[in-house]
Amino acid sequence: MSGRKHPIGWENSNRESRLPANWHKLRARVKRRDGGLCKSCGRPGTQVDHIIRGDNHALENLQLLCEPCHTRKTQAESAEARRAQRPRREISGRPGFMTEPMPDYWSRVARE
Ligand SMILES: [Zn+2]
Repeated sequence: MSGRKHPIGWENSNRESRLPANWHKLRARVKRRDGGLCKSCGRPGTQVDHIIRGDNHALENLQLLCEPCHTRKTQAESAEARRAQRPRREISGRPGFMTEPMPDYWSRVARE
């Protein structure tokens, strides 16, 4: 790990460092295989996307996308990751909610 030498844009450099050495070759193969077209909308594709995000650079996990589709997918994925990582505290942090019986006052009012 080389750490955070570049505070500006490290996300980008970090991402690139995870790509394999033969990435440019893989890119070219994916581009050719997919006919140079976005797999999502059929317009000319410029970006090679990991179908399942992560470090699986197998050709089966790569697809060609155009920039808008790639951006949308990346945003959806990070939103999903945020949802998955969110602690459960929000749900369990309401002690007694729905478990407490009706307070006396209300049961008396209901009877009258
Ligand atoms: Zn597209």
